[in-house]
Amino acid sequence: MPGIAIAIVIGVAAFIGIKIWIAQQNPAPRTEAKPNPAAQISKPATEASTEQLEAVDRIKQVLQDLIRNFTQNTDQLNNDALAYNTSLERHKESLQKLVTIEDLRELERSLLQQVDEIQTANQTYRRQLVEVNNKVKTQQQELERLHTVATKDFLTDIPNRRVLEERLNEMMQLARRHGHLFSIIVFDIDHFKKVNDTHGHLAGDRILKAVAHSIDQQRRSTDFLARYGGEEFVLVLPETSLDQAGVLADKIRRKVGNSKFTFEQAPIPITLSAGASQIDSDAESDTVDELFKRADAALYRAKENGRNRVELAQP
Ligand code: GH3
Ligand code: MG
Ligand code: MG
Repeated sequence: MPGIAIAIVIGVAAFIGIKIWIAQQNPAPRTEAKPNPAAQISKPATEASTEQLEAVDRIKQVLQDLIRNFTQNTDQLNNDALAYNTSLERHKESLQKLVTIEDLRELERSLLQQVDEIQTANQTYRRQLVEVNNKVKTQQQELERLHTVATKDFLTDIPNRRVLEERLNEMMQLARRHGHLFSIIVFDIDHFKKVNDTHGHLAGDRILKAVAHSIDQQRRSTDFLARYGGEEFVLVLPETSLDQAGVLADKIRRKVGNSKFTFEQAPIPITLSAGASQIDSDAESDTVDELFKRADAALYRAKENGRNRVELAQP
């Protein structure tokens, strides 16, 4: 008799345990559990490479398969739990009708067998859950890698032009809505072609990295630096007037100009030219393109006026 009671307790406890486990491991309903990796990656997909888009599709497929498998497993788990529940109810009823010691032994055997089944099923589901978790983790890492590839310039490790454009569009909207002021500086390395021609492309790459690093070190934490392309960098300066932008641009220009860049012991003097512009006080009619045009025109003047200098956009 105590054996039967223990078996019932174990059976019920295992059943409750499995229910709790289901609730803990699978708190969200199936319909909510679908991650949408494509939403993160493909939204600003204007410049995403075919390789990136294919990888995102692959990840989407793997996650969909995982979710499908997982859903089937949880259905199975639910069915098993229901079946055990029904069977336990049946045992409970028959317990009241039992008369002989043999009946009791039979019930005890049956309950113990059921506990074994529940434990085995529990282990299987746990193993499957660990596998699913591992696969999801791998896919998450792959998504993070893709995100980095899509947003960072691989050579200099600073944000790329695509992120710069997103940032500038956001800032332009804020400027329109709330009257926020901001400026940009376009830096261009002087005579960079000559650096490549004289010292080789590898030296050129190292210089690009070093210059990006130097500008990055000098920006304020709220400023945003991106590689615009080739040997050009753009610094976005929130809440900064044109004059303040000019002061910062000149400080950076001097710092880079005074740095001693070398490649294989050969000194490589580097200078920067820069053009700065500020959003129009009448931001309603200003655009990112116009802001760039004004900074580019200023940069052009810096080149025309002898390089290694900063020019401000003319009003
Ligand atoms: P300027 O003073 O008028 O700006 O002259 P410049 O030689 O810097 O300008 P130009 O536009 O004629 O040449 C830019 C050079 O930058 C040419 C190109 O080979 C080099 N460049 C662009 N991207 C890279 C890169 O990723 N690595 C290396 N090593 N060189 C690059
Ligand atoms: Mg250039
Ligand atoms: Mg140049």
